[in-house]
Amino acid sequence: MYDIEYLIDRGWFIPDTLKCDCGCDRQECTKELMSSLTELASCMEERITIVTGFICPEYCDRFPGYADSGHKLGTDVDILVVGQYYRHKILKYVTTIFPVVTLTPRIFHLSVRSDWPQNICHIS
Ligand SMILES: [Zn+2]
Repeated sequence: MYDIEYLIDRGWFIPDTLKCDCGCDRQECTKELMSSLTELASCMEERITIVTGFICPEYCDRFPGYADSGHKLGTDVDILVVGQYYRHKILKYVTTIFPVVTLTPRIFHLSVRSDWPQNICHIS
């Protein structure tokens, strides 16, 4: 296992991508999420592309259906998953590292929320 500084140096992990997109510059991801992402990046040994990380509650509430989003709790992240090889490789790790995983064709939604049913992988 590598530490986060090593992952950042290698470009496998870009912490800024976890910041809120509204321009508020907030990044309040939980320690649990950060350690799970670090573990994922070190297992993959290649770039984890984070599409959405933390979203501040003020910004999150502007989107319909995001009232209960883990993005504003700092427990959820969306990562870009493109290509069959990459998808197969990362699937093995996300399902063992994250307790709640949602798979879509290009995005995997990963969550460390403990108030949701655990060890769930669903496809939407
Ligand atoms: Zn914001």
